Amino acid sequence: MTARRAAVGGVHGAGRVTETRSQHVRASADTPAIPPEHVAHRQAFEAFVLEHAEPRHRDVLRFLYERWHEYNERFFTGQLVVPYILLAEPKMPSALGDCAPVSGFGARSQIRIRPSIVFGGHPLVRSGAAFAEGRLRFAADVLLHEMVHQYHQEVTGVTEDSYSGHGPVFRDECNRIGALLGLPPVRTCKARGRDRDLPSCSHWPHNVRPPDYYLGAVVERSRRRLELSAATIAAALAADAELRLAVARKRAERGIAWPDVSELARTHIERGVES
Ligand SMILES: [Zn+2]
Repeated sequence: MTARRAAVGGVHGAGRVTETRSQHVRASADTPAIPPEHVAHRQAFEAFVLEHAEPRHRDVLRFLYERWHEYNERFFTGQLVVPYILLAEPKMPSALGDCAPVSGFGARSQIRIRPSIVFGGHPLVRSGAAFAEGRLRFAADVLLHEMVHQYHQEVTGVTEDSYSGHGPVFRDECNRIGALLGLPPVRTCKARGRDRDLPSCSHWPHNVRPPDYYLGAVVERSRRRLELSAATIAAALAADAELRLAVARKRAERGIAWPDVSELARTHIERGVES
């Protein structure tokens, strides 16, 4: 992979997106090409990890980098430039991974995979050597999810901030790749319209993999709980908005004190997460 590919990726993305995407997608002619210095550093970082990282990290990161190159060729026609891939905690406590457009030291494109899903210890996965392969499959799926974010951050420039990155164009990429993998379709993170009963792309592809895909390494009840929690939170937020409106009306009418509705919503969410 070279600097030339980085420049081509940006230009390619602009043309393809403009021609094929829906009205949600702005033209990405302003998506900046990745500076050659950044490309070279990302490639040197990968080379360092594969050659010199501590064995525990090196073995896992080698696997993840191999998957990254495989997926880039298979699903993104080689348009992506290799990112920094780290075994490190994502920004959000509940996230399994993330793809930051800017790394902690100011370079472009950093993918973090939560270590506890690889080594065990995370409540979603089973610990122990017997489940190591299944945990790696799970981590590879987290990587694939983050690569869709990388694609939109660096190629199309469409990051769908109002959907926390999980809007129509993210969903479309998940469904395009999902069709190649034989996976069922997903919806955006907002349950609306005809697609509202489909699983959310926020948890793709974990939430559409067959139950035995992770070789028993993923706690099935926890996987379902992830979806339940997302639905519960969405319902609670909607209920919160309705309550706020009702409270405002009552206060206007009578001028009396009412309970803190945010507290009510929080209780609702916590109950849902614990169920
Ligand atoms: Zn995501």
